[in-house]
Amino acid sequence: MERVVPRPAKVEIGFADDRLTGTGGAALLAEAARRFGLPERLAEAVSVKKRNRGASDAETQWSVIASLASGNGSLSDLDALRKDGVQRELLGLSSAPSGRRAGEFLSRLTKWDVESLRGVARHLSGCVAPEVVSHELEEKGYVPVFVDGTGIEVSGRLFEHAARLYTGERGYWLHAVFVGGLWVSGRLRPGGDVACGWKGQLKRGVAPLLPKGAPAWVRCDAAHCRGAFVEHVRGEGWDLSISVTDPNKCRPALDVVEGLPEHGREDIGKGESATWVRYRPSKWKEEQSYVVVRLRSRRQGELLPRFSVILANRDDLPLAEVVRRHRGKQGHENAFKGPLVCNRFNLFLSRLYRNEGDQQRGLVVMDESHYEQALQGLARQFREEGTRWGNLRNMAEVPLFADSTASRLIQIADLLAWAVWRRYEQRDTRYFDLIVQRFDREGGVLHGLVHRKDPSEDCHCPGCLSRTFRDRRPDNS
Ligand SMILES: [Zn+2]
Repeated sequence: MERVVPRPAKVEIGFADDRLTGTGGAALLAEAARRFGLPERLAEAVSVKKRNRGASDAETQWSVIASLASGNGSLSDLDALRKDGVQRELLGLSSAPSGRRAGEFLSRLTKWDVESLRGVARHLSGCVAPEVVSHELEEKGYVPVFVDGTGIEVSGRLFEHAARLYTGERGYWLHAVFVGGLWVSGRLRPGGDVACGWKGQLKRGVAPLLPKGAPAWVRCDAAHCRGAFVEHVRGEGWDLSISVTDPNKCRPALDVVEGLPEHGREDIGKGESATWVRYRPSKWKEEQSYVVVRLRSRRQGELLPRFSVILANRDDLPLAEVVRRHRGKQGHENAFKGPLVCNRFNLFLSRLYRNEGDQQRGLVVMDESHYEQALQGLARQFREEGTRWGNLRNMAEVPLFADSTASRLIQIADLLAWAVWRRYEQRDTRYFDLIVQRFDREGGVLHGLVHRKDPSEDCHCPGCLSRTFRDRRPDNS
């Protein structure tokens, strides 16, 4: 396959104000699109336009794609593109739609159009995949595959079939699969079962991209910790690691390690130790192997040791290597979900401004925890493509990373997280009760406190209760 080497058409650099654009990188984007034949594919995929004036279907789609790819997050950003003749020229657009026109265009798409656009996206990722796979094999000796779903909360009447998420909010699950850093498959589904549809994604999205016998490592979070998933992955001949967080599923592993003397655990560096445990989860067909990691103590005087449990099938590898491979997924999760978290903080700041005229800007400071590697990747991403993280107009600075022992603010955040953890995991409300009044709230709903649980489960914690009351109000839909 031809390598993708960006080779922009001749770009002249000058300093005349009427020829300024903030997005010179559009030239590279356009060149990549041209090489993949994207504009032609878009023209074939969708045809909804009724009138002959203005931007064509393909131009409208390419405008939206290019705008998103250069870091914008809303349709109104297209109005800026319309006015930026140089950027339009770099993108090869003779005409760009207004935000309103683009919105009308999108609202006319049928689910068949969306399906055929998904086909275009899959085709593009298929073009790049061989290079990505051979790169991963060369660098790591295996191909990381990341399977994940994340909740997108919605409100209003226009969202068809939205259903309950973990939080009890209405929404959709955005599912995505990545091979190495490459998106290969994605689905938007109504809420409900978070792990639905994984089999089709693995069969059609992942299997065709991996050469027979190539070592692959599937990693995911607790939502996929179910027997059928594990069996399927092994049936494909792939390795896997899954976080286990459900207290009932963790219990047998924790029971085994409780009282295990320190020399029974292997030091895996950075103050952590780990051990293998084997047992058969109830209702599963086969015994599984688990890594139990005793986490680095983070505070003086912490009474209970903290553990994390990972289901993993390669007990021939050193424990440190298994844990390292599993935690590699953090980089993926951050890239996938990080924008949503930052966006939420951004929304909080916008609301402060709107309701209280408070113009303060926000600053995200993160602990350099044991996910250092992943966080560095995240920091780089922020620097390089900061605006890809949604429209972060209320942020004063890119996120900063600091050692928790050196930052009082991180220690406070840590303490608050600990109080919440005591409330939910240890049923100790003493510390939580002191802070519960201070969570971000609007209209009685505690936005700052969300309980991730099975939506069918009743819960009377403050976070869940505040949403139950809101949902009972008649004007809510
Ligand atoms: Zn709850």
